[in-house]
Amino acid sequence: MAGFISQETIDYISQQADIVEIISEYLPLTRSGRNYKALCPFHEEKTPSFIVSPEKQIFHCFGCGVGGNVFTFVMKWERISFPEAVKVVAQKLGISISLEEEKEGKQDFYRINAEIADFFHQQLKKNKVAQSYLSKRGINSSTIEKFKLGWAPPSNIFLDFCKRRGFSEENLEKLGLLKRSSQGEWYPYFKERIMFPIFSISNRVIAFGARVIDDRSLPKYLNSPQSPLFDKGKNLYGLNLARDEIRKSGEVILVEGYTDVITLYQEGITNVVASLGTSLTLAQAHLLKRYAKKVFIAYDEDSAGKIATIRGINLLLENELQVEVISLPEGKDPAEFVGKNGREAFLKEKNKALSYIDYRIKTERQKSKAFTLDKKLEIVNSLFSTLKKVKSRYLLDEHLKKISETLGLNEESLRSEFIRFCKEKGNFSFSVLGFKTLQEEEIEKKLLQVIICDEEALQLAKKSISPADFTHPLCRRAAEEIFSHEGKITPSVFLNRIKDDKICSLISSLSFVDSSFEGVNLQEAAREIIRTLKRRLHQRRIEQLTRMIKSYEKQGKEEKLKELYEQIVELKKNILI
Ligand SMILES: [Zn+2]
Repeated sequence: MAGFISQETIDYISQQADIVEIISEYLPLTRSGRNYKALCPFHEEKTPSFIVSPEKQIFHCFGCGVGGNVFTFVMKWERISFPEAVKVVAQKLGISISLEEEKEGKQDFYRINAEIADFFHQQLKKNKVAQSYLSKRGINSSTIEKFKLGWAPPSNIFLDFCKRRGFSEENLEKLGLLKRSSQGEWYPYFKERIMFPIFSISNRVIAFGARVIDDRSLPKYLNSPQSPLFDKGKNLYGLNLARDEIRKSGEVILVEGYTDVITLYQEGITNVVASLGTSLTLAQAHLLKRYAKKVFIAYDEDSAGKIATIRGINLLLENELQVEVISLPEGKDPAEFVGKNGREAFLKEKNKALSYIDYRIKTERQKSKAFTLDKKLEIVNSLFSTLKKVKSRYLLDEHLKKISETLGLNEESLRSEFIRFCKEKGNFSFSVLGFKTLQEEEIEKKLLQVIICDEEALQLAKKSISPADFTHPLCRRAAEEIFSHEGKITPSVFLNRIKDDKICSLISSLSFVDSSFEGVNLQEAAREIIRTLKRRLHQRRIEQLTRMIKSYEKQGKEEKLKELYEQIVELKKNILI
């Protein structure tokens, strides 16, 4: 290939890649809080200072200062150019940059899955029983096409097909499509079931979900096992179709099952994905965060669904996503509800979605009849561990107020109880203090850090300070890049545009929010830092003017002196604000 890859493709590939997964192919990473760490491969060290952030999709070595996104890592490790690194990453993901580039390996697996999905789909068209099952559940033919639903026929038909197509049994076994009995006979993993192909985000069949139609056979639902193409904790059903709408609206509806996704989609609610039967995983939360700001959880109302909802809330909050819970009347699941009541009724329920605080209070309340003070305190304690994950201080205030109102508890006491709770858990540090003692360069870095992490803080900075106000040359150049960016900064994607190694490393290091910002409102922090920077800027200007005054005094230029004094008075006023 000539070496030109469009920016769009580069961004797309970096969004598909999971930096933790890719770096893990090169060196062992160990989990450390919300990040991963390792001994740095780019300099000699005995204790790990090489950190990888799954949330931000970047890495940084705090020992030697190397950092960047997934492409930077592959470039440095393999000692290859940027376009070559993009190609290497694309290949690992099974994304073809051009058709000629397609290599064997995963391609074989993708081809088998695609052909088998087609086969199941054709089988469905021949099977009246399966068709009538789907139509009874309200699934129409265009939805069947859209989701490429299928039917797994009895064993011999499936085995014949595979033989005719010449698929090797070993490959089929690796894909979880065949199993071998203790007598050594091959038999299909799926038979006489409705088949739901599971697509990757790039629209390739990576696995299958399946459901029986008689409600007597067990298990009712069956998913492909782990395979070279499929890790169910890392995929979301329906994301390939929902992605654009999620990105556009910033919202995603998270449901439990395939039929929930399909039924909502059919009703024109297209920003919906399912967590594939299990409760949400960290990898899935990261995946959601790439596209959405707000998640509406609409799990089933049974006890397993409730536990999964609470776990989901905590995981999503921890990953700085907004969460609300759609709680459908009479404990119906979304497919059932929307099938019976239609789109508008569902959207109405979505508008009534409960904040996670209200949801928690409601479920705790349902658990016990007597609502004693003891019970209330028990609820408060279980809410505190969720609240601890809230990053914004304003939001926290709002929640504490709400809890005090709903439970009839004194707000001030509640607040001090919460602070005590956090201190006991050892992660409480509203310490934005101490900026005043920092060197210029450090303060400027702090500001860059805050505005990379928080879009509103960036807007605030753009309004009140300019890159030229930065004194440190590297910070000034980084500020120019950051200020000229429109909208929210996603470090891993933003870095694709930065060609300067030093700025790239600076931005990757700053993208790791340091612990002094933990629990701090980033806009407040930005305001305070900007005030400090401006104060120093004014201070420097005053010193400069004072020097000028001295020289004008010697020359006796009265007019000029008066003007300068006025300027100084004005600057001093500003410093006091
Ligand atoms: Zn290093």
